[in-house]
Amino acid sequence: MTTTTCDYGCTIYGQHYSDCDGRDEIRECRGCLPRPAERDLRLCFACVNKTRNALAAVPGVVSWLRHVADLAKPPSSARLSDDIVATTDPSHSTVLHPAWLDADELESVIDSWISVIRAEHPNRRNMAGPNTDTFPGSANLWIDTHWIYLAMTDHAADFRGQIVGHVATLRHRYPEPDSAAPARPVNKPCPRCEHLTLVHQPIRYQGDETRIECTNDDCAAVLNDDEVTLIHYNAPTEAA
Ligand SMILES: [Zn+2]
Ligand SMILES: [Zn+2]
Ligand SMILES: [Zn+2]
Repeated sequence: MTTTTCDYGCTIYGQHYSDCDGRDEIRECRGCLPRPAERDLRLCFACVNKTRNALAAVPGVVSWLRHVADLAKPPSSARLSDDIVATTDPSHSTVLHPAWLDADELESVIDSWISVIRAEHPNRRNMAGPNTDTFPGSANLWIDTHWIYLAMTDHAADFRGQIVGHVATLRHRYPEPDSAAPARPVNKPCPRCEHLTLVHQPIRYQGDETRIECTNDDCAAVLNDDEVTLIHYNAPTEAA
């Protein structure tokens, strides 16, 4: 049986092809051996993990962007003095804040992947769609139950790249003052890359377990039980 490697092109930290001496002309090679894909999937564990974290963040990011756009609205015309005629020029009133447009775009990215799943999933005929009334609140939960299908197909790398990329860009562009349930730093070196880059991820979806992850992008480890024991980290008890 051949091992499939991650379609996104991930490599294993510190592991190299036999003809790699650890550098190229320009810089150090941190690892060039492709990272294996998860069983039956075309993405590695780190991509699976990042994609699910990004999906979980979508509703929060969208409502934050809507909030940012609302705060930036000019005062309503009712508060203008009588001398100033409230503008009824439609081109004026339909100027939307960039954050609002970015939220729309993120929703349409989610929407387009829902369409792909609903068009191509082998079980599509028996599949109920997401409840669009509560979009995107339930849409991302819906995708979370079905996206594994995407991760088994040619779409895997595209899907992962789009979802993770969009969420990261928007979070960077519109930083939230205090996002709910942030990852907690774990003050122990990562057993794989030895950097002080471990974080304790809170539970994002019901049924998930808490995870200790490495935020060093080259490593991107998700610690297994043995490794968690090894670092002697006692997880604080999580509120349900
Ligand atoms: Zn290398
Ligand atoms: Zn990967
Ligand atoms: Zn690490």
